[in-house]
Amino acid sequence: MMTSKDPRSAFEAARRSQPEIAALAIKSRVAFITSLRVVLIEERERIMDRIQDDTGKCRSDALMSEIFPILEHLEYLEKHAVRDLQDRKAHTPLAMMGKKSRVYFEPLGTILVISPWNYPFYQAIAPITTAFVGGNATVYKPSEHTPLTGLVEDLLAKAGFKAGWVNVVYGDGKTGAELIAQGPQKIFFTGSENTGKRIMAAAAEKLIPVELELGGKDPMIVFEDANVERAARGAAWGAFTNAGQSCTSVERLYVHESIYEPFKAALLREVGRMRYGVDKDGNSDMGRMTTDFQTAKVREHVGEALKAGANQLTGKEWDGKDLLIPPIVLENVKPDMKVARDETFGPVLPLFKFRTEEEAVRLANDSPDGLSASVWSKDLGRADRVARAIYTGNVSINNVMLSEGNHALPFGGVKNSGFGRYKGEWGLHSFCNVKAVLIDKDSTKVEANWYPLTAAKYQVFSRMMVALFSGGFLNFIRFAIAGMGLEGLAGKLGKAGRAPSEAGPIPPAATGSGSTRKASGASSHGRQPTVGA
Ligand code: NAD
Repeated sequence: MMTSKDPRSAFEAARRSQPEIAALAIKSRVAFITSLRVVLIEERERIMDRIQDDTGKCRSDALMSEIFPILEHLEYLEKHAVRDLQDRKAHTPLAMMGKKSRVYFEPLGTILVISPWNYPFYQAIAPITTAFVGGNATVYKPSEHTPLTGLVEDLLAKAGFKAGWVNVVYGDGKTGAELIAQGPQKIFFTGSENTGKRIMAAAAEKLIPVELELGGKDPMIVFEDANVERAARGAAWGAFTNAGQSCTSVERLYVHESIYEPFKAALLREVGRMRYGVDKDGNSDMGRMTTDFQTAKVREHVGEALKAGANQLTGKEWDGKDLLIPPIVLENVKPDMKVARDETFGPVLPLFKFRTEEEAVRLANDSPDGLSASVWSKDLGRADRVARAIYTGNVSINNVMLSEGNHALPFGGVKNSGFGRYKGEWGLHSFCNVKAVLIDKDSTKVEANWYPLTAAKYQVFSRMMVALFSGGFLNFIRFAIAGMGLEGLAGKLGKAGRAPSEAGPIPPAATGSGSTRKASGASSHGRQPTVGA
């Protein structure tokens, strides 16, 4: 396994070795995924130690939000990648009768993966393996804040990945920019909205396709008929898992006014039970913040809200500096406060009331982001209606942060949360050159729309088009008759061709263009259809 600090040599190695990956049958690529799964299970304790060292998350978060989902992801690839990437038949329209349409899923080449610090293990392995199964080599740049130095390449090497297949380059944003300058065939970026904009601008210079998995300000809507206790416990987990440092954390909680008080009481009971700290035995519910700058953002959001009249219901003991922040629940938050609009990315949950379904949808959609959401109601018809009305990439119904847990489902955002979909077959296809292939038989027949184009052909084509797209049995018959007429006009090799007198430019009078092309003496009206007319 190659580890390089030099963007150029990383790309050279990737490009040299990518044909080896492409030459492997998809089944053989999947065999490496199986062996990686085995390695990850064997090495799980060491991996969790490393994740905790770099991030400060609690042991259970390292297990449940990093290793467990990666194993599920690998299992998805093992079970479904061969089928998802198989050549497919596509529909061939009537006008192309006799031909066959196919779709092939081919590698793009070298993929640049740039990852954030919040799930450093998951955000490395998921895109690297998806790109690999699609036949691509990868250059991977972890976040400078959680590099897990040496870990990813070590695990891949143990699983049998060859040198050059995956190339890890360590560094900050400057290194990221240098990597983009190497001209990968695709950039898969997960991170903040601001960096996403910079990456897209740099990629535009070289027309590099980008996938942007960016931030969120996810709403949770709880209707009056939801199980209050369950929804409140779901809200606590959705807001505070990974200390709120998840792109799909619940960051806005809308509760129907009629259950607001009992819901609040249940939520505060749940939060009151939570234990937080960086543990080694799985006995902590929530770990610490990973970085000082994100801790400062939490301080800024909470401080601004409190100054402007919000109530802090929990976590008052926090000194505003410690990376270990207790879960903070706020109420009386106004929609224009930062904590209601900007991604906080910390353990802060603002509570809001709503009266009607329309209001809940309007409030949920009142955000520049559109990553994920959750809707809670016994009435599944209503929940589905609201799920459709919320403009996001993902929605969970009667659960939270769950859609992203199913690796057969696509994942990605709308609005400022980015674009592109990874996971499931959509994810695999997003790392492929999805190639369209149309297969005709070798024959002596000439296509009706090939030259020469004549007035007679034009008439029959026009009749055929109207019949084909007007529907009904009679039109089908008309289409068939016109089609036979066209067959005759199209003709066969050897017989086809314009009479010598017809060859040459069309006179200006015939084109109406006023062109100064030399007249050939043959008017287009006078031209004969090639054969059979
Ligand atoms: P970030 O944008 O600061 O950094 C992400 C990566 O980009 C890092 O590796 C960084 O070194 C690199 N980078 C910075 N500037 C660059 C440049 N000019 N060119 C190339 N690379 C550059 O994000 P972060 O603080 O590490 O991560 C937190 C953000 O990620 C949050 O907004 C969170 O919501 C988002 N996120 C989104 C998802 C998702 O799937 N949608 C998942 C996890 C995190």
